[in-house]
Amino acid sequence: MKCEICYRQIEDRLDENGKVYWSEGNNAAPYEGRCCDACDCLIVIPTRMGMIPMSSISMGQVLLKQRSMSPEELEKFFEPIPRIFGEEE
Ligand SMILES: [Zn+2]
Repeated sequence: MKCEICYRQIEDRLDENGKVYWSEGNNAAPYEGRCCDACDCLIVIPTRMGMIPMSSISMGQVLLKQRSMSPEELEKFFEPIPRIFGEEE
């Protein structure tokens, strides 16, 4: 299962015998789906307390996605931008 915030694999929780007893991560609300422990502590809980605006998380996710893109994907990602600003000769 992937974390909905940072897109990394959510770590399994192991009991003292090394057996997985929980692999569902944490409730990411007010974000969608499930999240890893790091995002729960650093992002989800502070957001619930009103310390981080949700808009800043969305921006962080866009930046994260861009870092994992290939040069071709990045080109496609930025393709619509000249249209937004108007193509000048
Ligand atoms: Zn995460």
